[in-house]
Amino acid sequence: MPRNTIKCSQCNKTFPGGYEYRMHWEKHLDEFLKKEKQCGTMKTPLQELFEYESDLTHMFDSDVRVAGAILEYIRTNKKDMLKKEKELK
Ligand SMILES: [Zn+2]
Repeated sequence: MPRNTIKCSQCNKTFPGGYEYRMHWEKHLDEFLKKEKQCGTMKTPLQELFEYESDLTHMFDSDVRVAGAILEYIRTNKKDMLKKEKELK
């Protein structure tokens, strides 16, 4: 058994490493974002980012992993975040 198994807080599935878990988490993130859009609760990009950070902090045992995931999130969503930021003002 691997030393550090990561358990998904959403569905209790376990993963041998952070990478596998992150790939899996993307699915939950998609579902989460879709649900949010349907509910019509508009959060600011910054609020979303902070929430994502909280989720990641619960998820990962290392700040390095959290930082890596946040960096990726920002790089992936930068355009959308800026667009949304303008729309909300
Ligand atoms: Zn899961």
